[in-house]
Amino acid sequence: MSQPNILLLGPPGAGKGTQSSNIVEEYGVDHVTTGDALRSNKGMDISDLDVEYDTPGGFMDAGELVPDEVVNEIVKTALQEADGYVLDGYPRNLDQAKYLDEITELDVVALLEVPREELVERLTGRRICDECGTNYHVEFSPPEEAGVCDKCGGELIQRDDDTEETVRERLNVFDENTQPVIDHYDIRDELVRIDGEGAPDEVWEELHAAIEDEV
Ligand SMILES: [Zn+2]
Repeated sequence: MSQPNILLLGPPGAGKGTQSSNIVEEYGVDHVTTGDALRSNKGMDISDLDVEYDTPGGFMDAGELVPDEVVNEIVKTALQEADGYVLDGYPRNLDQAKYLDEITELDVVALLEVPREELVERLTGRRICDECGTNYHVEFSPPEEAGVCDKCGGELIQRDDDTEETVRERLNVFDENTQPVIDHYDIRDELVRIDGEGAPDEVWEELHAAIEDEV
């Protein structure tokens, strides 16, 4: 049997990265994210697309948003090169979901569900060392001494992205764009809802069982 094609949906803070790693380890598939796919295909020839630059790197170097049609092309390339995959961070809107239907066949579409207030707590608790970049969480992986890095003694700071106001705004934007994507799969009875509120191991147990049911 060929390796499974898995789409993992869920808001920021739902644990998609952690669960994607579990999937990669269990099934030996590629972890495909738009960010990684963009970075590894910076020099791809997209001159046949009617866009401003000839390569994705052109947009990135100019600090411009990479247009949907370029992202689509890159995701298509990454999925074609993969023998099984877990796709994370795409599709972000309904147009991309429809495009995905055309270029691949999904075996599993799983949604990690976490209550809003839990997401806010997870995301606003993040702290990063200003010196060495080590990540902490005030509740889930606190440093030995509050505000101080265990590794280098540097100061722990909260990124602007992780303040409560920004976090709530990010979650709202996610809902707005992604609800139509969720509905797209739900209507066709392809969506598996996973309780993402528990410990990562518990979530993986449920997710793993759901994947085994489908493949
Ligand atoms: Zn440090």
